[in-house]
Amino acid sequence: MTAVEVLAKVLKAGGSIAGDYQQPKLRMVWRDLKPMVEAHREDLRSLVRQSLTLTAAYRNYWDLSETQVRDTALEAKYRGEITRLEVQGNPAVSWLTLRTSATAYHSETGFCPFCRERGPLHLLAEQVEMEFRNGR
Ligand SMILES: [Zn+2]
Repeated sequence: MTAVEVLAKVLKAGGSIAGDYQQPKLRMVWRDLKPMVEAHREDLRSLVRQSLTLTAAYRNYWDLSETQVRDTALEAKYRGEITRLEVQGNPAVSWLTLRTSATAYHSETGFCPFCRERGPLHLLAEQVEMEFRNGR
């Protein structure tokens, strides 16, 4: 099992990413995943860092006001930063991060981060797009 697969397994089992860039943390819900996590400790640390950085970039973008989003130069700057991070990092971690942070944002605010409307979270289109991009 690769570090990415371990990360996906931990998150799917209700685990979460916490801490900050200096002290990245992977919280587990199931204790029996611990040996797997220990075996990939160093790789997981860098994947969790990637996820933390990307989560912050998504949040900064999603937290822009309506007025800020209409400022095309500013909007492009935030989107450019996200694209740079997504391309630089592991694509599977980028997707996992998008899914978990969009879900967290939606349950916290009640707004879908993709269409900025109050209501359901529209994750499916992005999911298909990402999986297509990753050749799955
Ligand atoms: Zn939406």
